[in-house]
Amino acid sequence: MLLISPSDTTISDTGPQPDSQSGPYAALDLGSSRIRVSVPAHQVMIDRPSSMSLSAPAPVRRARRRRDWPTTRRGGAEGGRSARVHPIEHGVVTDAQRCAQLVGWTLAEAAVLSLPREILLAVPVAATRGDLRRAVSAVHAAADCPVRTVQAPLAAAIGAGRPVTDRCPHLVMDIGAGIVELAVIMRGRVSLARFVQYLPEHSPGHPGPRLPRYVCAQLAAELQQMLDDLPVRLRVQARAQGLALTGGGALLPSLPGWVTAQLAMTVHIAPDPAHATIRGLARICSAPAAVRTSLAPQVYELPAPVAGTDREKRRSSMPLDARDHLSSVQLQALREQLLGQLLRRSLELDQLLTTLRYRPGPAADRTTLYAQITRAEAHTSHLQQALERMRTGDYGHCRSCDGPIAFGLLKLRPLARQCLRCPQKEPAAGQAETTGRAPG
Ligand SMILES: [Zn+2]
Repeated sequence: MLLISPSDTTISDTGPQPDSQSGPYAALDLGSSRIRVSVPAHQVMIDRPSSMSLSAPAPVRRARRRRDWPTTRRGGAEGGRSARVHPIEHGVVTDAQRCAQLVGWTLAEAAVLSLPREILLAVPVAATRGDLRRAVSAVHAAADCPVRTVQAPLAAAIGAGRPVTDRCPHLVMDIGAGIVELAVIMRGRVSLARFVQYLPEHSPGHPGPRLPRYVCAQLAAELQQMLDDLPVRLRVQARAQGLALTGGGALLPSLPGWVTAQLAMTVHIAPDPAHATIRGLARICSAPAAVRTSLAPQVYELPAPVAGTDREKRRSSMPLDARDHLSSVQLQALREQLLGQLLRRSLELDQLLTTLRYRPGPAADRTTLYAQITRAEAHTSHLQQALERMRTGDYGHCRSCDGPIAFGLLKLRPLARQCLRCPQKEPAAGQAETTGRAPG
């Protein structure tokens, strides 16, 4: 099948033969420098840059030149051209809304006549729950279908033609732009995985990025550690099988020789390593249902249409990033901060109540004591309410406009209920004392 495409897009045949029984399953690889979609049933693969022009309003706008790697990592203007942004960095989706746009364009280019029945999405082992949620919601926003996730190194190993369902462990190193993933694959799953995220170095006059030296040293250490984590018998087997190199970085000159010398291990470079992951995903698409569900067990259905309170409706109409602006790591940091304050306040309250019971002192002291107890009780209750809001998913949203409250503000004042855009309502009791210091 031949398609006319924008000049910055390459199209090629997919490796595996389409399975007429499988229907229009689509495979999707969201890389930091390239986004790839494969529809095995149509024998189509689209490969386009995953950066986008800030001023590009519609998919019909065609790039004038073809670049294999991002023009700039800072998203700034280059050579007087419009600024480019990168919704995917170090292999993880950082801007869900723009990523959804990219996915939509790429699916449209793949000329998927009807929406895919299901999309198989490669996700890096480095992805946190927040990263995963952003990636899946971006795909949901672009395509109205369930999403099944496959761990990227597993897909890469399948694309490299490794027998991943073996009892014997297989080592794979997937070198992408900004992220390198290492994995031990056995019995059709990733048994052990490690990753290194980095900033690619660009040397003048050289088209591709280089793997910085410190990254090479780190990779050798991580690979050694991963081997050490394997039981001796499996370690010997894994070493004997050698290391499969996948990803665009597998073609970097001197890297295979360096790995061989450092780790005394045979290195196999996958055929067309840059497309190993998407090829692997396409193979899973074309595989029988039982194989597909065993290699990619996790399915994310579209969220149910929101019926309910105005607040829920308003939130569902918000941009993806405003709805889900705090990552799991940020939420965990804030939760620990709240719990720490709650512990300190509870101890303080205990002490105050003990003092009131056994050493009340003169009337003036008692008045001060009552005031202190009231403040401590109010603060404790506000901390408990904040933790409850975290549980229900309301935390971090402005009580006036329902918009996102910036992480920076929450870090300073974890009990903040309003964003900086809204006029401040009167501060709630205990609100002033949110940094964990004792009241003055
Ligand atoms: Zn607000």
